[in-house]
Amino acid sequence: MILAVTMNPSVDISYPIHEFKLDDVNRVETVRKTAGGKGLNVARVVAQMEEEVLATGVLGGTTGEYISQELNKSHIHNGFLRIDRESRNCIAILHDGKQTEILESGPTLTADEGAAFLEKYESLLANVSLVTISGSLPKGLQMNFYQQMLEISQEKGIPVIVDSSGESLRQVLIHEEKPIAIKPNTAELSQLLGIEVENQIGSLQEALANDLFQGIEWVVVSMGGDGAFIKHRGDHYRVTIPKINVVNPVGSGDATVAGLAVALSRNQSVETVLKTAMTTGMLNTMEAGTGYIDLAKFSQFFDLVEVTKI
Ligand code: ADP
Repeated sequence: MILAVTMNPSVDISYPIHEFKLDDVNRVETVRKTAGGKGLNVARVVAQMEEEVLATGVLGGTTGEYISQELNKSHIHNGFLRIDRESRNCIAILHDGKQTEILESGPTLTADEGAAFLEKYESLLANVSLVTISGSLPKGLQMNFYQQMLEISQEKGIPVIVDSSGESLRQVLIHEEKPIAIKPNTAELSQLLGIEVENQIGSLQEALANDLFQGIEWVVVSMGGDGAFIKHRGDHYRVTIPKINVVNPVGSGDATVAGLAVALSRNQSVETVLKTAMTTGMLNTMEAGTGYIDLAKFSQFFDLVEVTKI
């Protein structure tokens, strides 16, 4: 079973408004609410790939209850730490061809709640073969919190994929216990290294030679419609994908992580791992919902992905 962690999940609310009026009343007829957060997108896509998945993290209040009910409706097992404050809402106002977002930061966790989560995490690992950790850390937790989770998993020999950015990712990279894989996009890679990384092989190779990536088996740099560039052990791969009809690209990185997790937990070949991750990313862009794929289209698009060793 794959364990998908989201420490700061949300209810994502989208308000389509034909003409958005500032400083005035805007009425909304069609409200769409989904259980959001990067790790929940991962969990949904893993489930759609017909692999067993368990979602965990921290939930609170009626917002948290809603998230848990939505996961139950999608038949996704979930075991979250419950706290007495509300989980967050994230609002996207879709207006005039634009998207204006209002993102709550979510509850601030206490040190005790952090410790309680780590205990829960350790107990959940009993039936797990691989972990994914996605997204930002809630306020209140130490920046090396993901590192602490890695140490616990490593003791049990369970590999972890980390898809985070900024300081929480840097902390993961500078310590001895390494994730099996990370999946930055080029913007996240540039931010991490403090240089402008371009979608070109030379620039990517140079970036991934940085000591920060030593000892990480898979560094998958996703590049949207341009596919991905990968460092696997000492080898580099360029993966190209076909032109497709993009409906909604939000969550493609999470779907890529899900594909990576599924293929790695099935012990597949390097080529199949990379093609699977690209295919789940692409399939997500072809659906209106975030963190959804149509498995019926999988093999058709899988066959169109090309992996070249550099
Ligand atoms: P993130 O959401 O983390 O920024 P990307 O945008 O790089 O991630 O997307 C992850 C993967 O999803 C890509 O490597 C690709 O397989 C697929 N994907 C994303 N955007 C597109 C697109 N416009 N056309 C085709 N595939 C896409």
